[in-house]
Amino acid sequence: MDCTEVMEQLSEYLDADVRDELRKAVDGHLRACHDCSYYVDTVRKTVVLYQADVRIEVPMKATARLHAALAAEYAVESRKRSVPPD
Ligand SMILES: [Zn+2]
Repeated sequence: MDCTEVMEQLSEYLDADVRDELRKAVDGHLRACHDCSYYVDTVRKTVVLYQADVRIEVPMKATARLHAALAAEYAVESRKRSVPPD
């Protein structure tokens, strides 16, 4: 397996249901290739962070405040745009 193949198989490799032979092939390459090892490590951490983030539910009040803030911002922007040019 070379670097390109590792990149192509990466999402499958990071899947919990990865086939044993694929996992072993990628693991073998990662032990030999520092670049891929570093890259896969970074991606894996990002995936973990993303999954952790998804589990955090944004409180309803915060969401409502955010929507209100965005609506206010949008209203200001619309008013700016509706001002006719000199
Ligand atoms: Zn590599």
